[in-house]
Amino acid sequence: MTDPLILVTNDDGVQAPGLLMLAQALGALGEVWVYAPDREQSAVSHGVSLHRPLRVTEVRPQWFMVDGTPADCVMLAVRDLLPRRPSLVVSGVNPGANLGDDVTYSGTVAGAREGMLLGLPAFAVSDVAYGPKHLETAARVAAVVARHALDRGLPPDTVLNVNVPDMPFEALRGVAVTRMGRRDYKDEIIRRTDPRGGVYYWIGGAEPSHVAAPGTDFEAVLEGRVSLTPLHRDATNQGAMAALAEWGIAL
Ligand code: MN
Repeated sequence: MTDPLILVTNDDGVQAPGLLMLAQALGALGEVWVYAPDREQSAVSHGVSLHRPLRVTEVRPQWFMVDGTPADCVMLAVRDLLPRRPSLVVSGVNPGANLGDDVTYSGTVAGAREGMLLGLPAFAVSDVAYGPKHLETAARVAAVVARHALDRGLPPDTVLNVNVPDMPFEALRGVAVTRMGRRDYKDEIIRRTDPRGGVYYWIGGAEPSHVAAPGTDFEAVLEGRVSLTPLHRDATNQGAMAALAEWGIAL
């Protein structure tokens, strides 16, 4: 039997330490191929490059960089470049949490989501610290989750979002299946002037805070547990359908 092919991507670029650690940890489970953006692509969400050509450069055997987004990487790799269809897509390890509403902005999650859209088991993995000291813990957790995903598959139309507390592996307090929490972003728009008098803006502000509601991803990582959130492909708010139907819009 051939080893399962595991596609690895990220949104931090091909040079990111979390990518290397993830690829190394997954190497024990199968044949790892890396397709990653050539530079930082954090917070690009699920963008795909439709209006310009994409270049793919081999960095070393089975490692490639793409001058595009995480979703571009996965789309190109799965649809055209890989020698066979992957058994699993893993995106990360992101240095920084992807909790609650972060999921909407996250390039890391989008890399995994693209795998799911292509019909493959896929998950994203993040170390919740912005200056992580224990990326190897998240990589090790990813290998454990990957083994289960390869053995059992994932439920259909589900992409898994994994967040790992930044601590030694032995200090983790288990695994929790969680729901998405909510972020409270404190974005400030900072207006500045460049040396030639042009006005420009920064989206700045403090680190977002959050509500550690029961059962959420936030609560789990605060308690030192690995958070596994199954994200649904279908974003329909079923509970809102009746209320909208009641509008009785007629044209
Ligand atoms: Mn990132």
